[in-house]
Amino acid sequence: MKTQYWSVDKYVDNIRNYPQISQAASLLKQNEVIAFPTETVYGLGGNAESDEAVQKIFEAKGRPSDNPLIIHIAEIKQLNQFAENIPDHAKILMETFWPGPLTLVLNKRAGFLSEKATAGLSTVAVRMPDHPVALAVIKESGLPIAAPSANRSGKPSPTTAKHVADDLHGRIAGIVDGGPTGVGVESTVLDCTEPVPVILRPGGITKEQIEKVIGPVKIDPALDDAGQAPKSPGMKYRHYAPNAPLYLVDGSREYIQKLITENEAKGLKAGVLTTEESKGLYNAHLVLSCGNRSNLDTVASSLYDTLRKFNESDVDIIFSEMFPEEGVGQAIMNRLLKAAGHRVLS
Ligand code: AMP
Ligand code: MG
Repeated sequence: MKTQYWSVDKYVDNIRNYPQISQAASLLKQNEVIAFPTETVYGLGGNAESDEAVQKIFEAKGRPSDNPLIIHIAEIKQLNQFAENIPDHAKILMETFWPGPLTLVLNKRAGFLSEKATAGLSTVAVRMPDHPVALAVIKESGLPIAAPSANRSGKPSPTTAKHVADDLHGRIAGIVDGGPTGVGVESTVLDCTEPVPVILRPGGITKEQIEKVIGPVKIDPALDDAGQAPKSPGMKYRHYAPNAPLYLVDGSREYIQKLITENEAKGLKAGVLTTEESKGLYNAHLVLSCGNRSNLDTVASSLYDTLRKFNESDVDIIFSEMFPEEGVGQAIMNRLLKAAGHRVLS
């Protein structure tokens, strides 16, 4: 398949009038799938009302069909077509955090969306992205847009158009390049169908931010325990993994260096994932910094790019520092644990 490329400056005025946006939206209306930037990661969008379009998303990604998609909207009025019995706490969260990196799981109104998009569930996950390009494409299409991350399933999510092209060139109809994304990790997924909402996936909006607005929420126990069946179907799959085995190290820099030295003595090329503060302190085949430990937003923003850079190198094994599970650190550690297949050395 021929993949079209468009480039848009996300800061231009009247972005909806740009031909790049109308061409991308017109492909969506023809049930083709295209990638576009959001504030979290690049999304692979398709018409959420069409089985044909949704099927194309699953095929392009190689995504298991029991993993439902998040429906992206540009205006609140789109929501009432396909969600019902929306609880008050969910409405307050929308007013506070939309557009933004918070996905709400709500009761689905039957008959409007493709059953494939919601994997046949009676609930639907929805969010309004905070990115001018995403909002313009969705608005211009006039459709609810199902959009998982625009990577091949299992790989680190894409935070640049190049990452998308590396994974999906030739497999999708188009890519809108709007520059690198900001937040860098996916949205928080909050199940609002329970009396006390439950965080199914930590992400760009933190538990602390949510609790400030609606009071205490729960965390899906499966997030802390790899053995538990998660409520969010997608959380059970291997995700974000670099090609070489990744180990999280719960220990000092000296301990990490010892692991590197031992493995290099065995003839393995070792990589280390660290931050600006410590990158000069390691002696390894490849040392990559993913931001500043003193500002975890920078780590979230560069995490996937750093994991992808290891794939462009010849390392045989990767050791990563750990991060405090506070604020966006919860999302960072969730993604790193999955990328490492829950291998932690201490
Ligand atoms: P991704 O598209 O890769 O960002 O993943 C979307 C996440 O949202 C996955 O973990 C899905 O399992 C989750 N999700 C989507 N729809 C629902 C739903 N109706 N109920 C619970 N989790 C959902
Ligand atoms: Mg994804």
